Amino acid sequence: MRRHFSLGLACLALVGCGRTADIVIMGGMVWTGLSSGAAQPGSVAIAGGKVLAIGSDADLARYVGPKTERIQANGGLVMPGFTDGHTHFVDGGFQLTSVDLRTAATPQELVRRIREYAKTLKPGEWITGGDWDHTLWPGQPLPRHEWIDSVTPANPVFVSRVDGHEALANALALRAAGVTKDTPTPAGGEIVRDAKTGEPTGIFKDRALDLVGRAMPEPSPEQRDSALARAVAFAASLGVTATAHMSASWADLASYRRLERAGRLTIRAALYLPLESWRAVADTVIRSGAGDGWVKIGGLKGFMDGSAGSRTAYFFAPYSDSAGYYGLLQHPEAEMRRWIGSADSAGLQVAVHAIGDRANAILLSIFDSVARAHGPRDRRFRIEHAQHVRPEDVPAFGKVGVIASMQPYHAIDDGRWVEQRIGPVRIRTTYAFRGLLDSGARLAFGSDWTVAPLDPLLGVYAAVTRRTLDGKHPAGWVPEQKISVGEALQAYTVGNAYATFDEASRGTLAPGHEADVVVLDRDLFATPPDSLDQARVRYTIAGGRVVYRR
Ligand SMILES: [Zn+2]
Repeated sequence: MRRHFSLGLACLALVGCGRTADIVIMGGMVWTGLSSGAAQPGSVAIAGGKVLAIGSDADLARYVGPKTERIQANGGLVMPGFTDGHTHFVDGGFQLTSVDLRTAATPQELVRRIREYAKTLKPGEWITGGDWDHTLWPGQPLPRHEWIDSVTPANPVFVSRVDGHEALANALALRAAGVTKDTPTPAGGEIVRDAKTGEPTGIFKDRALDLVGRAMPEPSPEQRDSALARAVAFAASLGVTATAHMSASWADLASYRRLERAGRLTIRAALYLPLESWRAVADTVIRSGAGDGWVKIGGLKGFMDGSAGSRTAYFFAPYSDSAGYYGLLQHPEAEMRRWIGSADSAGLQVAVHAIGDRANAILLSIFDSVARAHGPRDRRFRIEHAQHVRPEDVPAFGKVGVIASMQPYHAIDDGRWVEQRIGPVRIRTTYAFRGLLDSGARLAFGSDWTVAPLDPLLGVYAAVTRRTLDGKHPAGWVPEQKISVGEALQAYTVGNAYATFDEASRGTLAPGHEADVVVLDRDLFATPPDSLDQARVRYTIAGGRVVYRR
């Protein structure tokens, strides 16, 4: 056996290089995440929840004792656990047991699935989640409450569109919420009304969602805990060992902490609470700290605009398919500036959703002016989605030091239809992974689960191939924005660790780092791009414990 190992044997002096390992993963292709270059043959030793050493199989044989668990990687990729940089993680747990409308390809199928699901419920129980997508349907009509009223006579319904920016209520939910023809439309939102009668059709968008949302009963702590536990187990099966949970509530935070205390939490979570609540968040962090290595308050999450699918993303030029209509801002610019400024003064990290090019440009200028006014600080502003950015705004991410927190799966999903909405010119810098990286931006990748599937390998496939889900762009949709496997993996690991201030303890495999490790069934660097989505997780290790094995 050749002694030479180009990773070099590294061991953790602090723990003692003579120590035996709890786990040794042998015979793998090790990718540490320190560069975007290919993986190298080798093995990884783990002890006491940390990475103990990385080196050749022969080098690491010395750490194998009688109690060491040996994992054979069989040439599969051994890499840092995936971090999903943007989830609605507890919602995901609820969705796992709710009605699945994501793949309902016709209105009839949507109705059928809701009817069948309603039969499993007690009267009065709400039907939520769903994630329907009317862009799959012929003619793309938005659903109406009349479609489902007769199949849900005893259950209020409020099911979301897949992007979470609009939802459909049935008649019972409209009644429970007290919404009628006379209900005024809230700023930053829309109540879709019948063109003839003016009656609500059941569709609510963005800031109007809360009109129905507040009529829904809050889940009990037990219900929330079991939803979270389901999400945690599901994430482990996909190799996801950490997440940034966006738009989290205090109830979510309490639920994570209960699971952590019970020893049932196998994912590290940074929670981002609503930007408007910056003062309460700042007080909490001062009073009791941000958290620990498993659960912490990451910062604040705000919204500039809506989504392209709901036509609520905010653009400089009108939508190509709705003359004179630019989309909408959820909050006035001055209010966003005030909130972001206050949050930054309080020392909190700020992450803000921006989809349309104008929403992104305004947000970049707010971030820039706040940073200038408050002086240098390691603040790591984040833009969530950064979906449509004007070419002249792309370099601002690198220049201002704004993290582009993006979801590659959206590119191959929205790429099916977004050109109809915004035309052929603006799409050149839609999900501009390549352009952003080349101009010095840091990327952090995620799924936006439940908006898109949680599986990070689908995200890697999407970023590398940009092949849309409808199969219409086999060479990639806007192919000049593709990136490499290594670049995509870095955005899913070290990029996300940086985005939550955790790069010193995880995101790369190095002695002393948290032992959050994934073993795949193949080496992604030696896999043809169009079959990257076929790769499977064989082992997930979180904090030095095997939390999933296939
Ligand atoms: Zn989101």
